[in-house]
Amino acid sequence: MEDNNSSSNFIRNIIEEDLKSGEYKKVITRFPPEPNGYLHIGHAKSIVLNFGLADEFNGRTNLRFDDTNPSKEDNEYVESIKEDVKWLGYDWEELHFASSYFDQMYEYALLLIKKGKAYVCDLTSDEIRQYRGTLTKPGKESPYRNRTTEENIKLFEKMKNGEFKDGEKVLRAKIDMSSPNINMRDPILYRIVHAHHHNTGDKWCIYPMYDFAHPLEDAIEGVTHSICTLEFEDHRPLYEWIIKECETENKPKQIEFARLNMTNTVMSKRKLKKLVDENFVDGWDDPRMPTIAGLRRRGFTPQSIRRFCREIGVAKANSVVDSQMLDYFLRDDLEKKALRTMAVLNPLKIVITNYPENKSETFKIENNPDDPSAGIREVPFSRELYIEQEDFMENPPKKYYRLFPGNEVRLKGAYFIKCSEVIKDKDGNITELHCTYDPRSKGGNSPDGRKVRGTIHWVNVSTAISAEVRLYEPLILNESEEEGDSFLDNVNPDSLKILKGFLEPDMKNAKPGEKFQFFRHGYFNVDPKYTKENKLAFNRIASLKSSFKIK
Ligand code: ATP
Ligand code: MG
Repeated sequence: MEDNNSSSNFIRNIIEEDLKSGEYKKVITRFPPEPNGYLHIGHAKSIVLNFGLADEFNGRTNLRFDDTNPSKEDNEYVESIKEDVKWLGYDWEELHFASSYFDQMYEYALLLIKKGKAYVCDLTSDEIRQYRGTLTKPGKESPYRNRTTEENIKLFEKMKNGEFKDGEKVLRAKIDMSSPNINMRDPILYRIVHAHHHNTGDKWCIYPMYDFAHPLEDAIEGVTHSICTLEFEDHRPLYEWIIKECETENKPKQIEFARLNMTNTVMSKRKLKKLVDENFVDGWDDPRMPTIAGLRRRGFTPQSIRRFCREIGVAKANSVVDSQMLDYFLRDDLEKKALRTMAVLNPLKIVITNYPENKSETFKIENNPDDPSAGIREVPFSRELYIEQEDFMENPPKKYYRLFPGNEVRLKGAYFIKCSEVIKDKDGNITELHCTYDPRSKGGNSPDGRKVRGTIHWVNVSTAISAEVRLYEPLILNESEEEGDSFLDNVNPDSLKILKGFLEPDMKNAKPGEKFQFFRHGYFNVDPKYTKENKLAFNRIASLKSSFKIK
């Protein structure tokens, strides 16, 4: 890919070693989302890593839906995940559903039973928890641990045939109840769930646990490097145990890296779903959401997201990334690509009293000062204009270089003007300004060497088109690590501000998804949801500058 970078990371080093030693002949990775929500920026990190590494070593990456949990999964999520992966710029080698391996997984479970490595246990989930012990206390063996192979086979079959109720029995691995690693204390492999599955329907009422299913899914697909997040580090011995005891032909290897955390961001599908379900946002693709769909609608480009994911690096230690870093890569990308235009978001009307009433003219203004090939556009100008309210002050402080009574400023690309009179309504609110212009300063150039310190933007009143402009602040004020719903207390009540702005007439042709730099205001995307036949809506993606610096 065009912006691939090959700076080192520890996973790349492991893969290089594995290829050199001959442990693996090729590299096959997978991206294995559970289809229980939309993908978020944390998933993007995993996608960029998995697809990027396979690409680098001429390998392949599968997209696999880890749909072993029947109750929470949905086809809407499956489709959105496919769309988001493609939009990010990746194409999978094979598309799989973990649920299509249920028959094979069942056979592997039978194999474990036959080898005396798994047994059916009748303890309740509470009892299993009590028997498990703690970090400092070894576990206690289940009284059902020593059932005969024949009995286990018969009971497991009955579990499969739906002869027991949910939770009545489980299949457990027979490993070591005194292992210092709690994951190895006879973990559950299968549980009974009488539920409809989006893919397999009512065929199954036993479902494999993640720790049993995942290594088998990897092995079945011939995955070589199974990259996952750090919380699975303690599960790796179990992953390896399953691969060894199931005697799979392929021997995948699990490697963990630190998940992405970001300031002012909640990043779990469960929490994001809560924000959607409780109408804090207008959907999974709300521009304030850290979902791929939300970032896309806000206006982030796939290039900026990929670069962000690469530059934050891959580490073994958890950390929190400043969410402004993503804005940095967006600016860096759009600076070269986005056309400039002038937009007035909080309008103040000015009348240029010495400009002829019926006259109008156009000024040629460059579309991108950094890229002459972007061309120029004709911007209409006449006697009445909108400027930004904040570009005028009646009683300015020192060092205010914009418009105030008696002061001269440049209207970007047009003329020098001076404010001669402030018009107010009966309550004292400023309704418009009267100004005069210097006809010799055409094009915004000084006629006699005199200098003006401020340049302000403007939009011609008679040709202006109006648009809804949506400005955003972080959705979450202070993220908390807590598992509950207390993060809802940190939702920012002022995360969205909607303004009615005025734009240059050319903007009537703007299409959903097109991106512009509004002079001095930042980068904006034409919102695909609220833009209609006769209505334009824009999302501010990021302002032009921030105090945030990268390295
Ligand atoms: P969530 O808690 O948001 O539901 P998850 O890990 O349960 O996340 P999965 O659908 O199981 O979501 O994740 C698919 C892949 O994406 C996994 O390999 C997972 O490790 C990875 N992933 C999920 N969240 C992050 C993150 N914040 N940073 C990096 N990788 C992530
Ligand atoms: Mg999950």
